[in-house]
Amino acid sequence: MRVSQLLSIAVVIAVLWSSAQVVEGEVAVDLKAGAAKADITPEHWPHPLVGTFSERLADKAWDRLHARAIVLQSGEESIAIVVIDSCYVPRVVLDEAKGRIAKQTGMRTDHMLMAATHTHSAPASRDRREIKADPRYVERVTSGIVAATVAAHRQLEAAEIGWAVAYAPDEVFNRRWFMKPGGIVENPFGERNDIVRMNPPRGKNLLDRAAGPTDPDISIVSIRAVDGRPIALFANYSLHYVGGVPAGGASADYFGEFARLAEKRLGSKEGKPAVVGVLSNGTSGDINNISFRKSRPRKQPFERIREVAGYVADKTFEQLEGVQYRRRIELAMTQRLLTLDKRRPTPAQVARAKQFLAAADESSLPRRAKPYAAWTVKLAEPPFQEELVLQAIRIGDIGITSIPCEVFVEIGLELKAKSPLPLHFTMELANGHYGYLPTPRHHALGGYETWLGTNTLEEQASVKITQQLLEMLEVVSSVQSSSK
Ligand SMILES: [Zn+2]
Repeated sequence: MRVSQLLSIAVVIAVLWSSAQVVEGEVAVDLKAGAAKADITPEHWPHPLVGTFSERLADKAWDRLHARAIVLQSGEESIAIVVIDSCYVPRVVLDEAKGRIAKQTGMRTDHMLMAATHTHSAPASRDRREIKADPRYVERVTSGIVAATVAAHRQLEAAEIGWAVAYAPDEVFNRRWFMKPGGIVENPFGERNDIVRMNPPRGKNLLDRAAGPTDPDISIVSIRAVDGRPIALFANYSLHYVGGVPAGGASADYFGEFARLAEKRLGSKEGKPAVVGVLSNGTSGDINNISFRKSRPRKQPFERIREVAGYVADKTFEQLEGVQYRRRIELAMTQRLLTLDKRRPTPAQVARAKQFLAAADESSLPRRAKPYAAWTVKLAEPPFQEELVLQAIRIGDIGITSIPCEVFVEIGLELKAKSPLPLHFTMELANGHYGYLPTPRHHALGGYETWLGTNTLEEQASVKITQQLLEMLEVVSSVQSSSK
């Protein structure tokens, strides 16, 4: 090969190399971290709680609700991850919070990931369907998110970070089941064409087999100051929520209990920022805490919450011992907006829905026919598209993707399997809320999470989202380390 040929190859390589470097990221420099939380428990009562069909009014909180923020900085790059004790928080509220944080800290709004835990015992943070949010509470959530993130940013200090994975299969169950003959019941549309059933009754010998897997991993991220003092313990587990919260009060469910346990076990130093425990939700759209095969004894209120939080904390702390920490890491984050079509009911579905809504005698209709009929009619009206915020983060060996839906577990497992980074997890209900995200296979199987109304995004949504996130992971993981 001649010298000129060699030179032209070198030029091509150099061009490819430099184009690969055009990412919003930072090569490894010394890490800084800060963490803080703010109380977002309502100050005015009562509130309707989000998370069930029947209205539940709360006039107190059994435990405190929080917004918990972690800010990481490496060179010019800063990112914030915020986890909020709420069933879901809509994009408009989070965008408002991001704007205020940007003003106070100079951080970029597209470098902030904000996700709800999905406790089913929190007040609404915005009007949705029949539930009206108290504007004072919407402001409390917004300002709490801002306060926690600004405090975490103010507390940035030299830090080190490490990760681990714990195996915790005992508290996750797939809730969608193939049924034996007689096990499928009429749906709210008056049809019996579902192939699987969500939360089927136990003990009637009607269960055939679960319609999907579970994700038994607890992903663990440990952040501490360079003197070894813990700053934050951040975990992710794919479990919808636990429940068993007594009527009349709000609760942060097992997410809050895990955080309390983590903070207590790690301990805080006087005169230093308090350690912050965080449990974020993974991909748990079809995963819950009901043991369908083996019946478990009935528990007292909060007993299951304490058991599951204790189990997840124990498994997490077992792995903490072996964590290796790094002070120089590659930090990168990228965000894309993806426009998806909403599902459109057929004219026949709309006509039937209008019939149901006009019926005077509700007892002649299928169970929950009227709410689903109302949602069906609404889906036939504009807007016919939604714009979703998707994010990918790289923190050294750790990859995080975010999706603004209740995400089926297969989607999280696929992202884990295909992620170029050694530890990967997805945070659901992040940067907004657009209902369940089943895969096309699950759309074909039918059931609650695919019904028009509980489900609003096009049937290919999960395929399009996964493809985008995998591309984004390649972008953030291509940030090179200058020193390992
Ligand atoms: Zn839910």
